[in-house]
Amino acid sequence: LAGYKKPNTEGSVLQFKKQYENFIGGEWVPPADGEYFDNPSPVDGKIFTRIPRSKKEDIELAVKKAHAVKERWGNTPAAKRSRMLLKIADVLDKNRELLALSETWDNGKPIRESLAADLPLASDHFRYFAGVIRAEEGSMSEIDANTLAMHVKEPIGVVGQIIPWNFPLLMAAWKMAPALAAGNCVILKPAEQTPVTVLLFAELIADILPPGVLNIVNGFGPEAGQALATCPDIGKIAFTGETTTGRLIMQFASENIKPVTLELGGKSPNIFTESVLAKKDSFFDKAVEGFTMFALNQGEVCTCPSRALIQESIYDEFMEKAIERVRKIKLGDPLDPTTMMGAQASEDQFQKILSYFDIGKKEGAKVLFGGEVFENKEYPGGFYVQPTIFEGNNKMRIFQEEIFGPVVSVTTYKDEKELLEIANDSLYGLGAGLWTRDTHQAYQIARKIEAGRVWVNCYHNYPAHAAFGGYKQSGIGRENHKMMLDHYRQTKNILISYDQNPT
Ligand code: NAD
Repeated sequence: LAGYKKPNTEGSVLQFKKQYENFIGGEWVPPADGEYFDNPSPVDGKIFTRIPRSKKEDIELAVKKAHAVKERWGNTPAAKRSRMLLKIADVLDKNRELLALSETWDNGKPIRESLAADLPLASDHFRYFAGVIRAEEGSMSEIDANTLAMHVKEPIGVVGQIIPWNFPLLMAAWKMAPALAAGNCVILKPAEQTPVTVLLFAELIADILPPGVLNIVNGFGPEAGQALATCPDIGKIAFTGETTTGRLIMQFASENIKPVTLELGGKSPNIFTESVLAKKDSFFDKAVEGFTMFALNQGEVCTCPSRALIQESIYDEFMEKAIERVRKIKLGDPLDPTTMMGAQASEDQFQKILSYFDIGKKEGAKVLFGGEVFENKEYPGGFYVQPTIFEGNNKMRIFQEEIFGPVVSVTTYKDEKELLEIANDSLYGLGAGLWTRDTHQAYQIARKIEAGRVWVNCYHNYPAHAAFGGYKQSGIGRENHKMMLDHYRQTKNILISYDQNPT
């Protein structure tokens, strides 16, 4: 956070426009029917800008503009596309503070996270895909001495992307970077709760990409989102959001037999084995720190470690330390660089979390910490809650349903068999954490956990070159890692006979 100073007055440094437009065909285009919606900041609950409430017509215009340029873009040499992605990464780095402030103001996340995580991870994503696209090769099979099968990777063409509100710019980067690297044109719909940073980003990089290659169309899910997912002229739809919405997206895509990738919800277990407490050393402190990760980004993370499974023999001692550490989480003003937990992203989300505080209490879970609203005197209109620890059992709703807030539900297990039963007793299979000093145990348990990402002795790391995605109802396909390129390409097989002989 070197050099960062808290702005003097709330949000004044940001100079948001009173109204934004869609970014279509390289231009700022108002919605066809002239409708806008108000966008409040969760930091203070006040409206600070207006955003286009786009519909089918706006999506169709963006798709048309993208089609007009798709061949040119798809045929642009990989080296040239790569250089453009590198330039985008540089722009992100150069404007880190501006974009981080915007992200914090629009989403409520603490500035220390948007500066130190969201922005650097987003620029690294563009750099990573700029790199891997240069190293990509097709393949060839020898069918017989005179027959060769060439496998060439071709871009899909025009792709639709729909993203959520928890990491607005980073989720956009996860979607855009591989799609653009692979040679596709993009229509991206940001979440209606957090549209602003992606628009600022489009403004900053507008002259890097040819017009029409990247289009941002704003609006609500059942309007702009559905129009995009049902559009017959897109070649693929990539979605991140709730599992229930993901199910709808699959139905929409099936109307035109379009491929989907889905990054959906989670209820990730964070498992603490007996060996954690074998010594009170720095590894033990690291594990306690790992427990507190449920509060990162106000718990609004798809992989939030929202279930903690603690071996019975260490439960009391471990929890004493864990609660002591959670007590030290600094809540409050998201623009203050010492704040660790800011505002929940929207009033709806805030209300949803409060309803789960009630559900947990009513179903008999014990509140070990928190469980109430956090009164932020500086911003009384904002949406703040306390980090909350419940103790209960895995059958409870607070262990089974995604709350998407800073809430962890804690339970115990006796042995590895019970550990796996509880960890895998979930509709979801996105992430998991495992804390152990025993490398044999680490590997064996990690292999048996039904999740796409198992962190061992760490949590919440998201490097661009590690595959990320869900088992079970947490999704289809993977993001990050070069394997993502294949979700944005088709394989063309050219089968050639070099045999002159007619028989
Ligand atoms: P959401 O499903 O409500 O919305 C996500 C996006 O879908 C938004 O842009 C929204 O406008 C759009 N949408 C909503 N209804 C639609 C419809 N009928 N047709 C088309 N589009 C529609 O999810 P959210 O509340 O914004 O995000 C939180 C969810 O996202 C959580 O479940 C979280 O776990 C998940 N998430 C998953 C990952 C991952 O990588 N697996 C990452 C971040 C968030």
